[in-house]
Amino acid sequence: MELFETEGTFLTWRKNVSSQIGFVPTMGALHEGHASLLRRARRECDKVVLSIFVNPTQFGPNEDFNKYPRTLEQDCIVAKECGIDVVFAPAQFYSADFSTYIEETKRSIHLCGKFRPGHFRGVTTVVYKLLRLVDPHFAYFGLKDAQQFFVIKKMVEDLNLSTTLVGCDTVRESDGLAMSSRNRYLTKEERLRAPLLYQTLLSTRIALLEKKTPWKTLQTQATQALTQSSMTPQYFELCSIPDLQPTEALSSGQHILASAVLTENGTRLIDNVIF
Ligand code: AMP
Repeated sequence: MELFETEGTFLTWRKNVSSQIGFVPTMGALHEGHASLLRRARRECDKVVLSIFVNPTQFGPNEDFNKYPRTLEQDCIVAKECGIDVVFAPAQFYSADFSTYIEETKRSIHLCGKFRPGHFRGVTTVVYKLLRLVDPHFAYFGLKDAQQFFVIKKMVEDLNLSTTLVGCDTVRESDGLAMSSRNRYLTKEERLRAPLLYQTLLSTRIALLEKKTPWKTLQTQATQALTQSSMTPQYFELCSIPDLQPTEALSSGQHILASAVLTENGTRLIDNVIF
């Protein structure tokens, strides 16, 4: 496995590779969720590139950019175990006078877009830069961040990028909590409560499929259940797929995303179910 910390050294490697490349972009602090993407890329592609970059442009001014975990040495061990060919972990990825951004304007406005102004602009910009640099055949993303996946998919379609995106199932702890680099911020009590997010999403899905209770009632009940357990829901929403517009009812043949975010003492926990 090779580690490249500059664009120049990575490009020198890339220019000599003509086989099929699978790419997994991350911000590091790798866990089993990331490893599942890496293993899938390993199974499906000739060469696998993992990028690790804590992207400043997707963090808001009061978010956790400075305290975001940076564990490159440990991440390289995980990458090696997953059989990765190349880790691209640039110290810098933006020039000092960087001034060009990529912005998706429909799928990114609801859900997290409402609460994190500029977040998806930062995500699409860094992923565009990475896809241009790595030029992979396949790029693997987790559906835990479902909005991110569908926003990036639209960017790839709209801007004629040749990469095929692969959405991968969410990997969970044994109690159902979605694995996340941010779970390590949780106190013992918060960690014990956290699985309720997924449980509430699942019970809401069951109730919706029964079609007896209107969405707005289910939304209120879900929010109340979380609040009563001392959790702070930021949103609990239902959206159409893939265009991510708010919806209130199921129509046959249409995929729906139920998506929720909790903010526990400044830690954002996100989870989704698709059905
Ligand atoms: P991050 O490092 O948090 O930006 O995540 C990098 C990639 O890993 C994104 O495509 C995430 O959606 C994906 N990912 C993060 N957590 C999980 C998880 N628990 N299961 C599956 N994929 C995940």
